[in-house]
Amino acid sequence: KVIEGEALRKKMHNTILELKGNIRVFCRVRPFLSDDGIDSVTKTISFPTTTEALGRGIEVVQQGQTHPFMFDKVFTPQSSQEEVFVEISQLVQSALDGYKVCIFAYGQTGSGKTHTMMGTPGSYDDKGLIPRSLEQIFDAREKLKEQGWKYEMQVSMLEIYNETIRDLLSSNKSCSTDSGNKQQYAIKHDSNGNTNVADLTIVDVRSSKEVAFLLNRAAQSRSVGKTQMNEQSSRSHFVFTLRISGVNETMEQHVQGVLNLIDLAGSERLSKSGSTGDRLKETQAINKSLSSLTDVIFALAKKEEHIPYRNSKLTYLLQPCLGGDSKTLMVVNVSPAPSSVNESLCSLRFAARVNACEISIPRRQTSMRYLEPRLSYG
Ligand code: ADP
Ligand code: MG
Repeated sequence: KVIEGEALRKKMHNTILELKGNIRVFCRVRPFLSDDGIDSVTKTISFPTTTEALGRGIEVVQQGQTHPFMFDKVFTPQSSQEEVFVEISQLVQSALDGYKVCIFAYGQTGSGKTHTMMGTPGSYDDKGLIPRSLEQIFDAREKLKEQGWKYEMQVSMLEIYNETIRDLLSSNKSCSTDSGNKQQYAIKHDSNGNTNVADLTIVDVRSSKEVAFLLNRAAQSRSVGKTQMNEQSSRSHFVFTLRISGVNETMEQHVQGVLNLIDLAGSERLSKSGSTGDRLKETQAINKSLSSLTDVIFALAKKEEHIPYRNSKLTYLLQPCLGGDSKTLMVVNVSPAPSSVNESLCSLRFAARVNACEISIPRRQTSMRYLEPRLSYG
């Protein structure tokens, strides 16, 4: 009886999710840090506890004025990595069912994007979304084996800096970018909705440990690239991609899912006036790609005929995974520091606009995809 009730609850939950459309927006406020100045978190940011807003509301006070927001979920400074992941695990799971999933961390530099995505390497409790997702996927793969499913997984990791792609798994130590060679890292999409980036390293993976090893390699290659290019860590987008291909011969089914986990460049408004030369170019590139991402999401929501995917490398790369019946989650990270209140408001306003977007496109009739995950988590 209990199990039946639980199954029913999950079914209802999934149905509600399906009805709501394919975009979710979560907000996460990081704890106060010693560098944040005087702790006035209770005055700057608060979390309303009315029935309607509990766990979903956030209020920001700026110059005596209160600005309220509501999202699908709001995580407070006390929320653990585990609590955040519980809310996301279902979405991650759907990649095994053949969905294309994008999870973005958005926010100003220092707001907790990398903490949310990666966490503290080596610390069990502090693991972020990427390592947790992989553990869940490889666990689920074992369980689905019993139902006759065979999965193959491939990983790639890249960085987009100044509208150029950098391969983070390339064995070439000099950390090549596409700036010199036009053909290298050219993005192509085939008719099956697969993305191919020319010369990008793609690695077959069989365990979450193998992926953890690759994540380390990518982190090293990121820092080498940064010193070489005199770049700051917050200036590039990090894109982790897991391609999942599953076959079930007895059921004659085949699924292809993609999980993209993206740590975006800092969203702080960068002043153009003070920047010259390389800095100016960098500023323009970040502004362009973040606003292109917004433009794409809004165009999808308004069901416009032309979706401007081609306006930036990031949106073009992710084109098959944005829109259609793919699923998007935006985690908007916010700092509680009073000195960041303007940036926090900007991020929340952006998130509120995304949240108001309902991208619901009719499901494909012929698809073998499931409405419900075959294995439920969370
Ligand atoms: P970003 O990637 O957005 O620039 P980081 O993830 O590097 O920001 O976070 C900035 C600092 O705040 C880091 O020292 C990080 O460890 C800390 N931090 C961020 N979020 C949390 C959190 N939820 N709990 C504890 N520390 C956090
Ligand atoms: Mg970061």
